[in-house]
Amino acid sequence: MKIAMVGTGYVGLVTGTCFAESGNDVTCVDIDQKKVDMLLGGEVPIYEPGLTELVKRNAQAGRLHFTTQLSEAVADSQCAFIAVGTPQGDDGSANMGAFWKVVDSLAPILPDDCIVVVKSTVPVGTNRAVSERLRELTGRVCDVVSNPEFLKEGCAIDDFTKPDRVVVGVERPEPAEVLKELYKPFLRTEKPFLSMGLESAEMTKYVANCMLATKISFINEMANVCDGVGADINDVRRGIGHDARIGFSFLFPGVGYGGSCFPKDVRALAAVAAAHNVESQMLESVDKVNQAQKTVLFSKLQRYFEGDFSGRTIAIWGLAFKPRTDDIREAPALVLIDQLLAEGAKVRVHDPVAMEKVKQIYGDKITYWEDQYTALEGADALAINTEWNEFRNPKFDLMSDNLTQPVIFDGRNLYDPAKMRDHGFHYEGIGLR
Ligand code: NAD
Repeated sequence: MKIAMVGTGYVGLVTGTCFAESGNDVTCVDIDQKKVDMLLGGEVPIYEPGLTELVKRNAQAGRLHFTTQLSEAVADSQCAFIAVGTPQGDDGSANMGAFWKVVDSLAPILPDDCIVVVKSTVPVGTNRAVSERLRELTGRVCDVVSNPEFLKEGCAIDDFTKPDRVVVGVERPEPAEVLKELYKPFLRTEKPFLSMGLESAEMTKYVANCMLATKISFINEMANVCDGVGADINDVRRGIGHDARIGFSFLFPGVGYGGSCFPKDVRALAAVAAAHNVESQMLESVDKVNQAQKTVLFSKLQRYFEGDFSGRTIAIWGLAFKPRTDDIREAPALVLIDQLLAEGAKVRVHDPVAMEKVKQIYGDKITYWEDQYTALEGADALAINTEWNEFRNPKFDLMSDNLTQPVIFDGRNLYDPAKMRDHGFHYEGIGLR
């Protein structure tokens, strides 16, 4: 099948590459000339494990192309996917500027029978509006399919090629059959292909993200209560997780969720609800709890240093909002850096892949260290924000030697508090005893 993928970010590039890998002829288009030039040169502009090899292989095989010209990508294609960003707008709702620009640009060049597939996460009602807009602009009825994406950055290729389910929203069965064929290679383990109405598919994406965000805010709030009452969240987590109705997944306390999806999608669904005069107290609370949770390490540090950061240096391990990605959008580490700088502390940071992006924000206001242990030299405490695997079993003696005092505030509960005490550390996690 000949496919156009409009928007070559985390979702578009992974989706386009995986479709090419399964034998389709895919052209990825992006307005960012720098991005396209990098891709044409065999370089992948984002960090996503396994993606570079896959991009190179499919480009070399002539199945994966990159361009800035929409018309070149769309010509003769049977499906035109839209995977541009839908970031948060000023009022919390999704900013749909880039998205509508693409729809308007597609209209005059869309081949007859080309299906428009909306991969971007878009407010409920958007797909129907796209269908209407295309009818106005082209004078004919175009098939528009909602095809929300559920991949996670950091294991995006695995998620895409082995999805738990594929969801499509359609107005009539024929385009769903085309998409089913396209996804067939990824559904060989009998995972379901779920076809539903446009609004239900759009809603499914938001509800999935809001449910996951809710679990995180819930366990974070419970961890904070544990801190208050002297209980241990890990014991509590085990105590509840064995209940089959609850389970263990997504119930790890931390410093709050970040990234380009949960924060904006929780707010966007709240905005959608408000626009339909539906109260969404849960969503507002989930967001509120999360914003507060991003300050939890700072509060612990503040207590420890009795509110005085003058002359203090704090080291931070982990800047990305989660491991195996360089994405720092809404990352809790950024909130911590801002708070520490505002209090006059010096900040030394280390992250295996996200430092370049953080440098673009903070420049020389903080220092960047390629080696996780060098980052600790002369620091009065370490704050851990991201659970990269390389932080799980570190050289505690070296950490102790490099820090001016053995103090760790762990926002991801990586270590056993009793063992840390044996190592001579002052160690605080989130809701740990
Ligand atoms: P991104 O910001 O990484 O990529 C978007 C790309 O679109 C950019 O490269 C940008 O240059 C390009 N673009 C903007 N306007 C364009 C235009 N007119 N023509 C061509 N290209 C254009 O975004 P992302 O993280 O890939 O997210 C894309 C969508 O997928 C969003 O709606 C997001 O909510 C959703 N989503 C993201 C994830 C994720 O983990 N990142 C997961 C599921 C769904």
